[in-house]
Amino acid sequence: MNQYVIAIDQGTTSTRAIVFDHTGNIVSSGQMEHEQIFPQAGWVEHNPAEIWNNTREVIGSALSKANLTRHDIAAVGITNQRETAVVWDKTTGEAVYNAIVWQDTRTQDIVNELAQDGGPERFKQKVGLPLATYFSGTKIKWILDNVEGARARAEAGDLVFGNTDSWVLWNLTGGVDGGVHVTDVTNASRTLFMDLDTLQWDEEILGIFGVPVSMMPAIKSSSEVYGTVHTSQLLREVPVAGILGDQQAATFGQAAFQTGEAKNTYGTGCFLIFNTGEEIVHSKNGLLTTVGYKLGDAAPHYALEGSIAVTGSLIQWLRDNLGMISSAPEVETLAASVKDNGGVYIVPAFSGLFAPYWRSDARGAIVGLTRFVNKNHIARAALEATAFQTREVLDAVNADSGVPLTELKVDGGMVANDALMQFQADILGVPVIRPKVVETTALGAAYAAGLAVGFWKDLGELSANWSEDKRWEPQLDQAEADRQLRLWRKAVTKSMDWVD
Ligand code: ADP
Repeated sequence: MNQYVIAIDQGTTSTRAIVFDHTGNIVSSGQMEHEQIFPQAGWVEHNPAEIWNNTREVIGSALSKANLTRHDIAAVGITNQRETAVVWDKTTGEAVYNAIVWQDTRTQDIVNELAQDGGPERFKQKVGLPLATYFSGTKIKWILDNVEGARARAEAGDLVFGNTDSWVLWNLTGGVDGGVHVTDVTNASRTLFMDLDTLQWDEEILGIFGVPVSMMPAIKSSSEVYGTVHTSQLLREVPVAGILGDQQAATFGQAAFQTGEAKNTYGTGCFLIFNTGEEIVHSKNGLLTTVGYKLGDAAPHYALEGSIAVTGSLIQWLRDNLGMISSAPEVETLAASVKDNGGVYIVPAFSGLFAPYWRSDARGAIVGLTRFVNKNHIARAALEATAFQTREVLDAVNADSGVPLTELKVDGGMVANDALMQFQADILGVPVIRPKVVETTALGAAYAAGLAVGFWKDLGELSANWSEDKRWEPQLDQAEADRQLRLWRKAVTKSMDWVD
């Protein structure tokens, strides 16, 4: 009875369901990719109905692979791609538009217009974020401004908004038949609308955006019972008891609970999160301030975050747009066949540059090309771009905190790449450490849910589950690392001020 917790990880490229046991080990999992929809340059969408269908499918496959029923599951946790905006009609259950994904830059004009009065940091003191296309707020405004009839339906109280955590939760807990419309503090802190201090929606900012407060989900902690499952027979009556945005979930799954602890997740993008404890720290170096987690009635933990838009998706681009490789791991074979990058630097500013630059006018650049360069150098430069971007974010974290990090815990799909992890340690000059369970995002959501129902009793029990799998020590000569970093920074300057 109740020996497991299931986490739903609604990610950018796929949806997973993973069953964990009490020691935090994976018992079984299911995964389905969903379509990436690119209607025009800079636009990225997902189909919310496809995501909900996939969620049900992966729950089914995870349970059936281990022969489990709902009686074996103590709780459901949800983690999700943050910022991706879904607006749906709560009377029909249908989305009024595709989900607008976090990478989408269509709201640049909205950002520019709002920044005219007070600049891009006009709300930063309150919400921790600069005005940028990245966050949900501008995407909700775009839907209300551009989908016919949407504003009137929103004002009538029929339309509601959620990141994909809320979308999945509302559907799981009943949908049109009484689904709960809730989000957690970590997701709410990515909208531009939540006051970091009060953890409530800020009605003044909502007013400036023209978004009715009735659209917004109730903000809850990351670990409490929000409701029980009604729509999926497989999990009927099981409590849904944890929600954390994917990067906060990974931090939680890495057991980085204490002030001063950090992790970096290498997936579609890269996200370094640094726990600042109960203190709200405002960055002077281009980092975001966000909520790390809040367990029930306990005080929230805040974090500084360095978000990098494009890392793993550059490898996908080599595969899908250039046809240079047939699978992501192949990039390592190409990169390892040359002794260095041949002088090539790739700045993958496909969605502008996020941390620490926040330059939406930047676009991708490949610099340093000579007749000598071949595709192996390009592959190597693509991997190195991830490591350089992470170094710049780590420098910002160190400058803000005043206490340099002495090691970096890592996770995500790209940490399977040994060459990248070695280069990362070389360029950072500190050890890089991978835990045994690298599905830390799902694990974090499982932990939040399990804590709420008493499946795990406290954070100490979770910390005891963490164990090291592999560690990469810096090997590159410091002067050489500095030289390469200098060239990288020069390449970044070439990518800026590109958009007319
Ligand atoms: P997300 O959760 O953002 O969907 P994942 O953590 O599943 O992402 O990681 C998938 C990403 O990692 C993809 O962008 C893929 O290109 C990249 N990736 C996967 N394996 C490798 C590898 N061996 N080397 C480099 N990149 C990889």
